[in-house]
Amino acid sequence: MTPYDALIVGAGFSGLTLAERLCTGRGWRCLVVEKRDHIGGNAADRFDAHGVLVHSYGPHYFRTNSARIRDYLSQFTAWHPVDYTILSFAAGRHWPFPVNLNTFEAYLGRSSTTAEMESWLESHRLPIENPSNSEEVILSQVGREFYELFFRGYTRKQWRREPRDLDASVCGRIPLRTVRDNRYFNDTFQALPKDGYTRLFENMVRACGDRLEIRLRTAYRDVIPHTRFRRLVFTGPVDEFFDHRFGPLPYRSLRFEPESFTPEDLNRRPTPRDQSTFPVPLHHFQPAVQVNYPGDEPFTRIVEVKHATGQVCENTTIVREYPADFAPGSEPYYPIPAPDTAALYRRYEELAGHVATHPRDILPESCGCEGISFIGRLATYRYYNMDQVVGMALKEFEKLASVP
Ligand code: FAD
Ligand code: UDP
Repeated sequence: MTPYDALIVGAGFSGLTLAERLCTGRGWRCLVVEKRDHIGGNAADRFDAHGVLVHSYGPHYFRTNSARIRDYLSQFTAWHPVDYTILSFAAGRHWPFPVNLNTFEAYLGRSSTTAEMESWLESHRLPIENPSNSEEVILSQVGREFYELFFRGYTRKQWRREPRDLDASVCGRIPLRTVRDNRYFNDTFQALPKDGYTRLFENMVRACGDRLEIRLRTAYRDVIPHTRFRRLVFTGPVDEFFDHRFGPLPYRSLRFEPESFTPEDLNRRPTPRDQSTFPVPLHHFQPAVQVNYPGDEPFTRIVEVKHATGQVCENTTIVREYPADFAPGSEPYYPIPAPDTAALYRRYEELAGHVATHPRDILPESCGCEGISFIGRLATYRYYNMDQVVGMALKEFEKLASVP
């Protein structure tokens, strides 16, 4: 049996960050096993058959307020700065989104001011002091009209739940502004890896040299019986790790439907009605990187990531995102932040806390495992962004680095 210092399950942001740190920061020998046929997890990107760089699993807009996380990743990539600006398509027209002074003016059909918008919000928002769910948080910020126009339909489609049955943090993560700022996020650093995420991940792997071995198309259970390792790092779904012993945790899945266009295809399309307000740039399909659809359409958004990557090419590719129930064979893209799911997760969290220091209660003795770490979006059942899982992996590294 080949001995490793760590067996790391999952080659996404969390698994690869910890692998890189342990290999180069501590000289550990690590094995990463990944069940998919590529590295990068859900953040992976690739060039499609039309030569367009696409995000394989939905749009991944990197942003962070942490200089530490930005500096860490900057060792492996240069950056292409982007102010992510998106639109919502509701009631038959495009709107600047998230709600800001430009949205308000479009709603009034005339020019306005921050002061007028603030007083309008004051008289329309519902007086809910401590919003406890996603319906209350939006009603308390913008009132019923904007809630119905932009949030209710989208949220019900995406989560197959009423907004009142989701934590306030779900819709609460969307900013509200009374100034002319159309950006989707407030973070101080917003940029994409200049040559794409997959290149970033390749550079992380390269930095590890021969201390890191990666096995793709490999489920971790298949390697456990033949492998010795001091530490297990698990970044997959925590309920799967424990054979769903308390019942399956709920997730939401997605179906991605790509469509590509040549310049000739684009020329044949009729000119959009609001082309003068929301112009579609040459060799593009739609006016912004992302258009959200809160209405009756079966998809939630259309993403044309070429707007954000800045790739110069004549073809373009869009991806429609259809929300889907999670079932065996589909991917658990989203943990569902809600009180009932949190209660179930807490049971797994407690068990994970126990086996972290008692690995022999779950792994065969032949592994020689001395401890288990659960990190990342799935293993901690948290609706985390990329920077947050990188931060989590860096923290775990500090903990492991202090172990003799
Ligand atoms: P993952 O990327 O899920 O990696 C886990 C890996 O483990 C996977 O590759 C999986 O195949 C592997 N695995 C699981 N089980 C096993 C097993 N039994 N054996 C072997 N391997 C296994 N974040 C942002 O910051 N900005 C965004 O704009 C953004 N957009 C998103 C859009 C969508 C549609 C989704 C789904 C997520 C988005 N995110 C975004 C979140 C981002 O994807 C995650 O924060 C990040 O990718 C999580 O990394 P991870 O390593 O924890 O998990
Ligand atoms: N949301 C909405 N309308 C929108 C955009 C977002 O109701 O036009 C809600 C919806 O519940 C969504 C959540 O806000 O799931 C978070 O949106 P975000 O764009 O951050 O979702 P993600 O990119 O993580 O899928």
